[in-house]
Amino acid sequence: MSTLLEKIKQLSAELTPETLANRHHIHANPELSYQEFQTQAYVLQQLEQMGIQAKKIATTGLIAEIKGKNPDKKVVALRADMDALPILETNDVPYKSKNPGVMHACGHDVHTASLLGTAHILQQVRDEFEGTIKLLFQPAEEKAPGGASIMIQEGALQNPTPASIYGQHVATNVPVGKIGFREGMYMASTDELYLKVIGKGGHGAMPDACVDPIVIASHIIVAMQQIISRNKNPKLPSVLTFGKIEGLGATNVIPDEVNIAGTFRAMDETWRAEGLEKMKKLAEGIADAMGGRAEFEVLKGYPFLQNNPELTRRSKAAAIEYMGADNVVDLDLWMAGEDFAFYTHHVDACFYRLGVRNEERGITSGVHTPGFDIDEGALGIGPGLMAWLVVKELEA
Ligand SMILES: [Zn+2]
Ligand SMILES: [Zn+2]
Repeated sequence: MSTLLEKIKQLSAELTPETLANRHHIHANPELSYQEFQTQAYVLQQLEQMGIQAKKIATTGLIAEIKGKNPDKKVVALRADMDALPILETNDVPYKSKNPGVMHACGHDVHTASLLGTAHILQQVRDEFEGTIKLLFQPAEEKAPGGASIMIQEGALQNPTPASIYGQHVATNVPVGKIGFREGMYMASTDELYLKVIGKGGHGAMPDACVDPIVIASHIIVAMQQIISRNKNPKLPSVLTFGKIEGLGATNVIPDEVNIAGTFRAMDETWRAEGLEKMKKLAEGIADAMGGRAEFEVLKGYPFLQNNPELTRRSKAAAIEYMGADNVVDLDLWMAGEDFAFYTHHVDACFYRLGVRNEERGITSGVHTPGFDIDEGALGIGPGLMAWLVVKELEA
């Protein structure tokens, strides 16, 4: 196997200029979620040039297979997301976004270019592994309901069904040259909460003639935090944040209603359902007891992301073979969401992080910021590493 490792490293090095050119093209031509038509056409063309046939799926996504020897032995899937964000790029780089107000500020250009590089490597070593590798280029990671959920609905995990799936994401808190893994729960479910508290407005000097929705809303907000502190299992991380409250009265005007918006995050699907149910009951009960009414609406987001422990352990060991133990780090829990989570509730999954930070060069901006960029040294690692992980996993 060591010869195959050397071969993958060598191919990865040879393909780095191509990987960088792909990243620059995709970065310069970003498209918003569900609108990745040109990106889809570009990726399709690149795959065809490698001799890989791809099919369209989820409107702007692609799915393809690379068959090794004995292709039915085992199937492993690799996923990249392709959408950009509504952000005006402030970087002064040759590959700056040519689509003002749209920017690859979450590194999905890096993921797509990296997976293209992985595909090109695997296509060239397909006589040296057994099984099938499924490539998933998915749209719309950034926007509900999430491209991953549509890919799954449209059969991305069937015919053939993969035994496992990998996803790679840039990490701006991990130095370039390093890779991060975490077993088990890793990222949170994300639900948007919209609460309307309806009272009866009037003169601020006559509260007895009104039902004050500001006071009701205040009670609800404080009481809801007790769902987190008193009802939740303390061993499970969960967050409830209300970031918006709007009651358009005045110093002497009690408004008719108050609108509140927030986010609820969890690392357990049972608790997620229970927590939402308790919030609804509490809001409606408090409003009713105080003479008003509450309407509680939930915009369901992504589930929590779970990394299969055994798969992650094997992958970490394979990454150490490829990178050396000093360059493989453990990740902390992260309460952000990611639609790769949908796959993790269907098949064994491993979502790992590619370090892109470089303090010395001032590459430290976080994802979703207008100054986000990566140390492109990461693209000398990402494609070959993923190829090695999947080849090892097909053997496992
Ligand atoms: Zn993002
Ligand atoms: Zn992302």
